[in-house]
Amino acid sequence: MISRAPNCEDDSDPQSLGVDEALARILEHVPVLEGFERLHLRSALGRFLAEDIDSPVDVPQHTNSAMDGYAIAATSIPSSGTRTLTVIGSAFAGRPYTGEVSAETAVRIMTGAAMPEGTDTVLMQEHVKVEGDQVTFDGDHKYGQNVRAAGEDLKSGQRVLSRGHRIGASELGLIASLGIGEVSVYRRVRVAYFSTGDELRSLGESLGRGEIYDSNRYTLYAMLTRAGCEVIDMGVVRDRREDVEAALQRAAAVADVVITSGGVSVGEADYIKEVLAAIGEVRFWKVAMKPGRPLAFGTIGDARFFGLPGNPVSVMVTFQQFVLSALRRLGGGAAADALLQVEATAAAKIRKRPGRMEYQRGILSQDDAGRLTVVPTGDQGSGILNSMSRADCYIVLPVESGNIERGEPVLVQPFIDRF
Ligand code: AMP
Ligand code: MG
Repeated sequence: MISRAPNCEDDSDPQSLGVDEALARILEHVPVLEGFERLHLRSALGRFLAEDIDSPVDVPQHTNSAMDGYAIAATSIPSSGTRTLTVIGSAFAGRPYTGEVSAETAVRIMTGAAMPEGTDTVLMQEHVKVEGDQVTFDGDHKYGQNVRAAGEDLKSGQRVLSRGHRIGASELGLIASLGIGEVSVYRRVRVAYFSTGDELRSLGESLGRGEIYDSNRYTLYAMLTRAGCEVIDMGVVRDRREDVEAALQRAAAVADVVITSGGVSVGEADYIKEVLAAIGEVRFWKVAMKPGRPLAFGTIGDARFFGLPGNPVSVMVTFQQFVLSALRRLGGGAAADALLQVEATAAAKIRKRPGRMEYQRGILSQDDAGRLTVVPTGDQGSGILNSMSRADCYIVLPVESGNIERGEPVLVQPFIDRF
């Protein structure tokens, strides 16, 4: 009888860690990195704040009009019939009316203009009748209407953003609105990465029989850059123990995080785990998930190491489920690691065998009642990268789940690109 060693196609494997436990173990080994930089606001895009930001001013600074119309005192609003006031001037955004306004007078006002002294209410221009310098209106108006109060957006001294908040488009604008032109941010996480495999060729080379182009370095480049990391591309390393060892040593000496793809399964040329055990510490190397079961995590000196599987889809899934949280933590990002999960109805049968957590690629839509529905992209092979590009979510199926019938609920993680 031939005894069969556990392999990638097995569904359950006692040596594998659960997804949650694997993530928890990773996070135990990722402190926030030391080091700050003070940057001009624009250069801080994509970075994590290393300071709290409190508003030095009221935003808006002055009470101003939310509409084009006429600024009046609310006491001028008639209790019945109409009222006519004399228009004594104009107020524009950035060019205020400097005189005073009495209960007999009004000022023509534009959106964003500061409210003139003596006024507290704006009549929309569509709701009045104008003849020469006379403006007439009825009693159907309320005190304070169409006015934005000073400090209505932010009060002076109020906490606007906390340390660890990532600076995106809205934060860039928000900080600018406070008149702040420089911020302190955490330094970027430095990540060195390489691909392993004798079959891999770089772009520009021609392919021999059985060879393929290295695509993992491109998806990794993209995901790392999007995550705000400083990237060091170390190319392709051949499946020789000495080469893998030398490359890992070089990478760990210059980077906070080292990422490889390929060479973590149990094949004869898969040296990653063996070398990691020799030059660093293996924290775990198998996770009960699909795709991505062989996933090595450990440390080499001061660097954290992720040995991702070779298959292109597995690289993306394991990066998103594990590496991203670690990078965020190292880079000073505030917690909130969990990916958004929402319920959707399966609009087609989904095949699954119990034993591993699965991240199938799915396409979301809405049915006639507006409910979220999802279908798998088709073949779920971990080498089929175009399934990732057609998908807009992962269908997350728990370990014990079997096939899902059409109409049953499932959890999905939508792919969200924050701006
Ligand atoms: P491995 O984990 O090294 O056994 O690789 C698993 C599968 O992924 C094999 O079919 C490899 O050819 C493929 N693969 C490994 N590395 C890459 C890469 N950098 N780009 C594209 N495919 C890869
Ligand atoms: Mg390989």
